[in-house]
Amino acid sequence: MRLLLHRLSLLTAIMLPVSGCTAPADIHDTRFMMGTLVEFTVTGIPRETAERAITDAAAEMQRVEDAFTIYGNVSNTVKAFNASPPNTAITLPDEVSDLLELSLQIQKQSQGAFDPALGGENLLWGFSTDSPPVTPPAAGAIDKAMAPADCVRHVSSQWLRSDRRCLLDFGGIAKGYAIDRGIAVLKAHHIENAIINAGGDIRLIGRHGNRPWKIGIRHPRKAGEVLLSLSMEGDKSIVTSGDYERFFTYNGKRYHHILDPKSGQPAMYSQSATVIAPSATLADAWSTALFIAPVSPLPQSLQLIRVDASGKVYRSATP
Ligand code: ADP
Ligand code: MG
Repeated sequence: MRLLLHRLSLLTAIMLPVSGCTAPADIHDTRFMMGTLVEFTVTGIPRETAERAITDAAAEMQRVEDAFTIYGNVSNTVKAFNASPPNTAITLPDEVSDLLELSLQIQKQSQGAFDPALGGENLLWGFSTDSPPVTPPAAGAIDKAMAPADCVRHVSSQWLRSDRRCLLDFGGIAKGYAIDRGIAVLKAHHIENAIINAGGDIRLIGRHGNRPWKIGIRHPRKAGEVLLSLSMEGDKSIVTSGDYERFFTYNGKRYHHILDPKSGQPAMYSQSATVIAPSATLADAWSTALFIAPVSPLPQSLQLIRVDASGKVYRSATP
């Protein structure tokens, strides 16, 4: 996760306005977190109840950001792990340990496309810093930053890193996890119809009055245009990874923030990958993975809408 400011126009997915029948009374609130604008929409309950719930949900999401970020001044156990001497086991809080376990599982399932130990390369490229890069790193620097494969290990209930270059970075999954925690807090406040939209990463519950929620997926090359609009209800997450939010062009080539762990270079397989999944955590991690490389067969609980490097749109069958 980064501490960088996003502009509203860069959101990867948007909630489409309701047209036609009378819209239910929505309660909206926006907070700045995780380097992006997080929009809360709750419907069908009194404003004061909704506002209390949103305040609690936002506090929980901020707690998650602080627990996982490797940027900024907060201290946390992820940074402590990244500073730990090689081959020395340290204890991580259950929450961090669990998300790391899941990340490593997704790394395996995605044949290495998703890599939670890519912190060295991410820091080198610097897309998540307050002064984003305008040129690629110097030749040789990427090779030097690359950690050996499988450098993070579970040793009984503790974790160690086998090499100094091995740095955890939950930037590809923690925003989704924060959204899931936010929704859990809203549910604990007995809210049944809501959306949390963190810069285009969305989880929704229930319905929008007497109709499904309407979600628009941003076109990866036509700013302000919707690639696809979807009606969704129940409890679903939809997250997009794209090459158009954080990028620079250098010598006519686009460089962006989602790296192929094989090369340490921006992945060139897609313009965007949108994943619909049962949780925002899974949707977030898998949208990053499937942006980078194909995975066959696609895990059963996932739906994918991908725009390839030439702009062609692929859509998986509905599970
Ligand atoms: P966004 O943060 O823009 O929503 P993603 O969810 O796709 O986009 O996550 C991109 C972030 O994930 C990067 O900023 C970096 O912190 C991290 N990252 C980059 N490449 C990978 C990768 N191959 N596997 C896991 N995380 C990655
Ligand atoms: Mg992601």
